[in-house]
Amino acid sequence: MKEIIADRTRLIDASGIRKVFALGASLPDPVNFSIGQPDFDVPEALKDEAIQAIRAGQNSYSQTAGDEILKQKIAQRVGAEYGWEHPAVLVSSGVSGGLLLAFMATVNPGDEVIIPDPYFVMYKHLVNLLGGKCVFVDSYPDFELPVAKIAQAITGRTKMIILNSPCNPTGMVYSQRQVRELARIAAERDVLVLTDEIYETFCYDGGCPSIAHYHQKCLVLRGFSKSHAMTGWRLGYVAAHPSLRDVIEQMTKIQQYTFVCAPTPFQKAAIAAMDYDVGDLVDGYRRKRDLLYDGLKDTFEMAKPGGAFYAFVKAPGGAATEFVEKAIRNNVLIIPGQVFSEKDTHFRISYATSDEKIGQGVEILRRLV
Ligand code: PMP
Repeated sequence: MKEIIADRTRLIDASGIRKVFALGASLPDPVNFSIGQPDFDVPEALKDEAIQAIRAGQNSYSQTAGDEILKQKIAQRVGAEYGWEHPAVLVSSGVSGGLLLAFMATVNPGDEVIIPDPYFVMYKHLVNLLGGKCVFVDSYPDFELPVAKIAQAITGRTKMIILNSPCNPTGMVYSQRQVRELARIAAERDVLVLTDEIYETFCYDGGCPSIAHYHQKCLVLRGFSKSHAMTGWRLGYVAAHPSLRDVIEQMTKIQQYTFVCAPTPFQKAAIAAMDYDVGDLVDGYRRKRDLLYDGLKDTFEMAKPGGAFYAFVKAPGGAATEFVEKAIRNNVLIIPGQVFSEKDTHFRISYATSDEKIGQGVEILRRLV
């Protein structure tokens, strides 16, 4: 096999989350705190939109950069939010597709990409796959945006800074003061920022300030997977200030030879999804966040998550992987922090499950300390 398989495959490693899935498959009725997707289904009205599009024969390729009406809608939304006139837009196959295209279009071998640690695992592996160099900036123990450390990490080889707020795996929402300060530094040093805003609708204690308000050299990535529970529909988008139109065009060129386009009937449904109010669902998730945080905060060391549906909790007594194994033996599936970090001190809980399961999981985890 060695002669068949390309060297670059050795730069990445199978997802640690899948390993927990595999372990959990043998448990009869586990408390599943491992899944990164909402526990509600796609709203019925949006399913109908997709079905209608299929029935109406809208089943062929769309334009490479996306359905024209959807693109216009995205451009309007993002333009109004950030005060950008005619932003450049590309509809992607999920935010994952957007990430791959963004890195392929910008990262040369040896380029440095600054990533706050803990991080969404895909960033590290995609940057490595392309020969880039990840520069991790520690955000422990409070997981706030480490602005001063990021400033220190910028060198002549820095290609971009990645921000993800609300953050997977910590659930942190960066404050306006922090993103403004980082925007000032990024503008001063003329650095591109990729802001992954896939969890922007899941913000529980006020707004979710985006660096794109304060810095024009930004690629904004958003999607429908989490907000509308469409993880299998593979829909996301990348938007940028018109001054970055060429980057979006290069990404579109690569999309033409890879993904070709995002799934057409689902793009049609996404037009309606953009106007679909998920406020009630978000209220439900705020309650779940409170249930989990109030249940664990006196027993575990943890920062209060302000968004997404994750909490990143310090494992008691040393290595987190050992605590995770103990939790799994006791029927609770959690993910070891080292999947998302260079450290093995914490574990990730996804509270995207029923209130009843959250209650059970909290009780079991407290017993294990
Ligand atoms: N970014 C972050 C931070 C995520 O958590 C995820 C999904 N787990 C993605 C991007 C990718 O989402 P999708 O490709 O389904 O849009």
